[in-house]
Amino acid sequence: MTPANLSRRQFGRRLGGGLSAAFVANELFRGVAHARQPKGVPEGVIQLNSNENPYGPSKRAQRAISGARKIAARYPDALETEVIETIARLHSVAPEQVILGCGSGEVLRMADMAFLAPGQYVVVANPTFEAVLAYARVTRAEPVQVPQTADFRHDLPAMAAACNLRTGLVYVCNPNNPTGTIVTRAELQTFLDRVPLSVTVLVDEAYHHFVEDPQYASAFAFLEKHPNLVVVRTFSKVYGMAGMRLGYAVAAREKIAAMRQHLIWNNGNAAVLEAALASLADADHVPKHRRMNNDLRRWLCAELERDARRYIPSHTNFVMIHLGRDVGPVIDAFRSRNILVGRRFPSMDQWMRISIGTEKEMKAFLAALRQIVPVSGGQSASLAPDSRRAA
Ligand code: PMP
Repeated sequence: MTPANLSRRQFGRRLGGGLSAAFVANELFRGVAHARQPKGVPEGVIQLNSNENPYGPSKRAQRAISGARKIAARYPDALETEVIETIARLHSVAPEQVILGCGSGEVLRMADMAFLAPGQYVVVANPTFEAVLAYARVTRAEPVQVPQTADFRHDLPAMAAACNLRTGLVYVCNPNNPTGTIVTRAELQTFLDRVPLSVTVLVDEAYHHFVEDPQYASAFAFLEKHPNLVVVRTFSKVYGMAGMRLGYAVAAREKIAAMRQHLIWNNGNAAVLEAALASLADADHVPKHRRMNNDLRRWLCAELERDARRYIPSHTNFVMIHLGRDVGPVIDAFRSRNILVGRRFPSMDQWMRISIGTEKEMKAFLAALRQIVPVSGGQSASLAPDSRRAA
């Protein structure tokens, strides 16, 4: 029987009473975080489809999750307040300017519910993360999808021009999913200055922690001057807690109060709240995982260049690779080799999104890619702007 098959108590007994619970939990999680597949995903399947951190939460967060069993019987109100206060301190805002959600998905939904009425417009880039549009359908708002630029970035001037008095919300995904591209600090500033105050600007920074480009800035820099701005973050990506579900928004008090009306009562979960506190207290986790991810992403991109494949330079934990053919059958071919890759994005149907996994997983992916989509010789790694427009 492996440690993963034992209950914590059984495992502790086998190791002997002299070992601390924290050590036991640590040993258990070492196996769990790296090796266990979630239920429903067969053992051995390589998951490069959802932009997760393959290493899971930091050790401190793992210990916190384990310790949360002691408080599982009680509603975690005080803990939730502590997390809100910690996040408020982190971003130098008041606690009333912070709201927590069950993943940033719930936060995006609350923003749609609060700031979109039937017949109003919701302005987004195309392609981008679709949750905001999906929730907007429920509010019967009308989508306005603005094509991306030739270099696969949000066309912020066009998005600002698309905002009018009937616009409720504009969504900026920075960095963007699925392209992995960013808008710069200067571009964001010009955009915020142009968008009418009546329009809520929702900036989703799910992949913020991976960005190294000095031209990029988090939208937090603009919060004070722009009361219509809502900034969203998640613990699902660099913090490795996609399975735990925690995200948050920071904005002016009025915006957060409007979103709070759509909050599910008692949406906080004691284990993830403890893990969030531990993650934020662990100063090494983000730089370490940014470095590991970005080094491996650079290695992958160098290999793609060696093959003369086109890809979009990414600032995130995923990369879009051009296939020169529809991605649908390619996704199936990878699945038959036990590798899950990103879904098909209709406006970029010849591109495949691949998440950065472990080194071993990326080597397996590359070997499979070379078999499934051999280099034709006709593809070019050159990314001259006019050759980059999505199909
Ligand atoms: N925003 C973006 C840009 C995403 O890519 C995702 C998930 N992939 C989310 C939000 C939602 O993530 P979660 O609900 O896990 O925080």
